[in-house]
Amino acid sequence: ARRAALAAVTGPGATADGHAVPLLANIGGPQDLADALEHGAEGVGLYRTEFLFLGRAEAPSAEEQEAAYLEVLEAFPGGQVVVRTLDAGADKPLAFLPPPGEEPNPALGERGIRLLRLHPEVMETQLAALARAASRSTAVLRVMAPMVATAEEAALFAAACREAGLASAGVMIEVPSAALRAADLAAEADFFSVGTNDLAQYAFAADRQVAALAALHDAWQPALLDLVALAAAGAAGRDRPCGVCGEAAGDPVLACVLVGLGAASLSMSAPALPAVRAALARHSREQCRLAARAARAAASPAQARDAARAHLPGLS
Ligand code: PEP
Ligand code: MG
Repeated sequence: ARRAALAAVTGPGATADGHAVPLLANIGGPQDLADALEHGAEGVGLYRTEFLFLGRAEAPSAEEQEAAYLEVLEAFPGGQVVVRTLDAGADKPLAFLPPPGEEPNPALGERGIRLLRLHPEVMETQLAALARAASRSTAVLRVMAPMVATAEEAALFAAACREAGLASAGVMIEVPSAALRAADLAAEADFFSVGTNDLAQYAFAADRQVAALAALHDAWQPALLDLVALAAAGAAGRDRPCGVCGEAAGDPVLACVLVGLGAASLSMSAPALPAVRAALARHSREQCRLAARAARAAASPAQARDAARAHLPGLS
């Protein structure tokens, strides 16, 4: 029993009935690896590569990028590492990559994949550096694009990844249009990762930088849960995995609900991993499904949480 208890705290993520749910870390670069490993991350579910680019007059060279990516891959031999391509825009400005014009609403402007479309050479260099790093490592590299809104954008990104020799091209689901048309996107992408932070911002028309709007960013909002369910169902229809990498995945009760909605893996800031691992280990996949169904049937975030908890005994 002690061994089982210990495994629940340190082993791979799984529900009580043994359904595997890889528990991964959100990182900003190699500096976050120690924390991820210490908290038992099985891999990386979101490597936010913009930190490599921020505050610089010029883009980092292909060699410098390759070295940073390789360092992350080597921390997880045989494990999975999901790298997100540069997510820049007027809200995360880069000196060498200015948006083409004035943007009164940076969150709605030329950012993420939109900006990379305008500067294909930046994306190509990054994808090539990733491919070279992957060829030198045993980790399984998956690459995904931020802010994808349409199947056309997903196809464009997948083609660029193929061109670079990358085996797996995914998209973040963080714009409501992408969740609504998840089946179309799943036809183009190898996997999804739901970014609940931006998905909430765009679904509720509530700037994530405005703290006064926190109630609208609450990941228990039933409308947000509906969008996650749509994304997962679209992915499942094509046998594609759909993970979640927004902050919501770090709440142990919500993590169970996300698994119930169909999340195949959960990625979060490293300190949240042990509590999520323990919560999953104590509940079956069926309990997670029932909790998810009850949460979606609720009319408010507070009611959704209470309804889910009724199916997840022992979680506060
Ligand atoms: C998200 O939007 O939920 C996400 C994970 O990405 P970021 O927080 O970096 O925008
Ligand atoms: Mg985002």
